[in-house]
Amino acid sequence: MMLTFDHETLGQRVLFGTGAATVNLAAEVSRLGAQRVMVIASDFETEMARMVSADIEVVLWHHDVVMHVPIERAEKARAAAAEHDIDLLVCVGGGSTTGLAKAIAMTSHLPIIAVPTTYAGSEATNVWGLTEASRKTTGVDTAVLPVTVIYDAALTLSLPVEMSVASGLNGMAHCIDSMWGPRRDPINAALGAEGIRALSQGLPLITANPSGTEGREQALYGAYLSAVAFASAGSGLHHKICHVLGGTFNLPHAQTHATVLPYVLAFNAPYAPDAETRIAVAFGTAEALTGLQHLRKRLDAPKALSDYGFTADRIAEAVAVVLPAVPDSNPRPVSTENLTRLLQGALTGEDPAVLLGL
Ligand code: NAD
Repeated sequence: MMLTFDHETLGQRVLFGTGAATVNLAAEVSRLGAQRVMVIASDFETEMARMVSADIEVVLWHHDVVMHVPIERAEKARAAAAEHDIDLLVCVGGGSTTGLAKAIAMTSHLPIIAVPTTYAGSEATNVWGLTEASRKTTGVDTAVLPVTVIYDAALTLSLPVEMSVASGLNGMAHCIDSMWGPRRDPINAALGAEGIRALSQGLPLITANPSGTEGREQALYGAYLSAVAFASAGSGLHHKICHVLGGTFNLPHAQTHATVLPYVLAFNAPYAPDAETRIAVAFGTAEALTGLQHLRKRLDAPKALSDYGFTADRIAEAVAVVLPAVPDSNPRPVSTENLTRLLQGALTGEDPAVLLGL
């Protein structure tokens, strides 16, 4: 069998150690020679950020963080960084906080050290996102890739079980969608498969013992792999759908990913036998959808978009916005009819297996 592909590996330092974030951050700030550090963390994340930053000098604290990075907030943060002559950004928090740091780096090219506290994975991608007038725009720019990621499972202990599950399944969605993303290749498929294995091992450990670090370490490791696979493969059908649901209808990011994923897997699986087999093997089940659904059941995962404020009368608008964005790489041709059907399923939480036979 011949292998022909182009693959780009993004350059980033990863420091992984439970309980080591404070020490690792101080060492990285010193290694980078930074003198004027801005720390970004939402109000809720501030206590964690202060603990992690205990051994560094901070010139500016910034707490004005909102999901999906509204452009006005990005501009305020950019102005604050410029006004204080910042030379390094440190973000401590979930994907929203990392997203704001990326928005600053986009225009200033300042380096970022990311200290993630959820399993969203933004820290390991060169993808930025901004929201303007209810439309979310994303793009790719090497300037927004954090130079260093500091993973510390102890920082995720406070993440409630429900949010841990949704966030971990957001990571799972990166892994699965990378199997049919526009730049899929054997390297990101291998990373995605290992991400599926790590997340499916770690997430049940978190629900069984939320205050233990073993499951949280596995979930963070899986989240990192998932994001590397996703950054390399690019957004597939699943991300195009969730991007519209989040950006246009303001649905919560992680829960939306967690809910939509089995429908996209069921939709594409019969048309992507190699990916289906790889995903099934990673779950350790005969079929990919069975593996995902078995895990989701154990985790009591989010089930229906109606639980997050989506309604049937918005489906046509969502389909109209998603359809032109569907990548040519999608293994199954996507039409108004079958995309409508997919969203109807995700809206009500019906068994996604019905889509296998569509
Ligand atoms: P989030 O960052 O909005 O966090 C959700 C909530 O959890 C917030 O209230 C936050 O304060 C809280 N939280 C964070 N860490 C916590 C902890 N350890 N304990 C308790 N509470 C904690 O949500 P998210 O799902 O991490 O990120 C979603 C955002 O990230 C979206 O805007 C999405 O578009 C973006 N994202 C971007 C990429 C990318 O590659 N650019 C990838 C994934 C997600």
